[in-house]
Amino acid sequence: MGDKELDECLFCKIYKERIDVIYEAKYWYARFDKFPKTPGHVEIIPKRHVVSLLDLDLRAPEWTELYHIIPAVIKLINKTDLKEVYRRFLKNPIKESSRQMCEQMLTHVGIDKKMDGCIWGVNEGEAAGRTIHHLHIHIMPRYWGDEDNPRGGIRKAIPGGGDY
Ligand SMILES: [Zn+2]
Repeated sequence: MGDKELDECLFCKIYKERIDVIYEAKYWYARFDKFPKTPGHVEIIPKRHVVSLLDLDLRAPEWTELYHIIPAVIKLINKTDLKEVYRRFLKNPIKESSRQMCEQMLTHVGIDKKMDGCIWGVNEGEAAGRTIHHLHIHIMPRYWGDEDNPRGGIRKAIPGGGDY
């Protein structure tokens, strides 16, 4: 990994500049996703430049720390004024699509609520939809009423995957 590639990595840059970091532990940090699918959508990101989940050393504290961070971040989301977060993002949107998504959050059924559930996981590899090649774990809150039939959850990442 050359320095040039590291310079271009969005998540390395965001941590270096502490842009909108909401949670920080020894090996990981978290931030609200600026392309939110539901209110409170967060990314948990290793401070070290790691592309894949498979690049983490499973015996290392980096991995075990993650066990603690996932529930801690879920609790933090529930305590956060999410309207304030998206209003702040809307003052300085990074992209038109980000502006639209943050605006949608302000009228979302879940904006004033604690999450009723959540989906969390990783798009591991480009075939699974990864677009930023620095590992990140999505925490995506779910709220009753955010879709007609939530049954199947993450299976719906594949069209029709909720029908079984
Ligand atoms: Zn990186």
